[in-house]
Amino acid sequence: MTPLTFRCPKTGKAIDSGIEIDEDSIPTVLTTAVTVACPHCGERHDIPVSEAVADKAA
Ligand SMILES: [Zn+2]
Repeated sequence: MTPLTFRCPKTGKAIDSGIEIDEDSIPTVLTTAVTVACPHCGERHDIPVSEAVADKAA
Protein backbone atom coordinates (compact mmCIF):
# COMPACT_ATOMS: atom_id res chain seq x y z
CA MET A 1 0.00 0.00 0.00
CA THR A 2 1.20 3.46 -0.91
CA PRO A 3 0.31 6.46 1.25
CA LEU A 4 -0.92 9.44 -0.72
CA THR A 5 0.88 12.63 0.19
CA PHE A 6 -0.33 15.85 -1.37
CA ARG A 7 1.20 19.29 -1.41
CA CYS A 8 -0.64 22.41 -0.32
CA PRO A 9 -0.87 24.81 -3.29
CA LYS A 10 -0.76 27.77 -0.94
CA THR A 11 1.99 26.87 1.50
CA GLY A 12 3.84 24.20 -0.46
CA LYS A 13 3.87 21.98 2.60
CA ALA A 14 3.14 18.27 2.49
CA ILE A 15 -0.31 17.04 3.47
CA ASP A 16 -0.70 13.50 4.70
CA SER A 17 -4.08 12.52 3.30
CA GLY A 18 -4.37 9.48 5.51
CA ILE A 19 -5.27 7.52 2.37
CA GLU A 20 -3.35 4.48 1.25
CA ILE A 21 -3.91 2.78 -2.08
CA ASP A 22 -2.73 -0.42 -3.68
CA GLU A 23 0.03 0.36 -6.16
CA ASP A 24 -1.74 -1.78 -8.75
CA SER A 25 -4.75 0.52 -8.42
CA ILE A 26 -2.84 3.77 -9.00
CA PRO A 27 -3.38 3.85 -12.81
CA THR A 28 -7.14 3.57 -12.34
CA VAL A 29 -7.40 6.46 -9.89
CA LEU A 30 -4.83 8.88 -11.34
CA THR A 31 -7.46 11.26 -12.67
CA THR A 32 -9.58 11.07 -9.55
CA ALA A 33 -9.47 14.18 -7.40
CA VAL A 34 -9.32 13.74 -3.67
CA THR A 35 -10.57 16.40 -1.30
CA VAL A 36 -8.15 16.85 1.54
CA ALA A 37 -8.60 19.04 4.60
CA CYS A 38 -5.39 21.00 4.70
CA PRO A 39 -3.82 21.34 8.16
CA HIS A 40 -1.55 24.16 6.96
CA CYS A 41 -3.93 26.75 5.55
CA GLY A 42 -7.20 25.36 6.92
CA GLU A 43 -8.84 25.06 3.53
CA ARG A 44 -9.91 22.06 1.53
CA HIS A 45 -8.05 21.22 -1.65
CA ASP A 46 -9.26 19.09 -4.53
CA ILE A 47 -6.06 17.45 -5.74
CA PRO A 48 -5.80 14.70 -8.35
CA VAL A 49 -4.14 11.48 -7.27
CA SER A 50 -1.67 11.93 -10.14
CA GLU A 51 -0.16 14.92 -8.31
CA ALA A 52 0.28 12.92 -5.14
CA VAL A 53 2.04 10.15 -7.02
CA ALA A 54 4.22 12.64 -8.91
CA ASP A 55 5.16 14.36 -5.69
CA LYS A 56 6.11 11.06 -4.10
CA ALA A 57 8.32 10.15 -7.03
CA ALA A 58 10.08 13.53 -7.09
ZN1 LIG B 1 -3.50 24.26 2.07
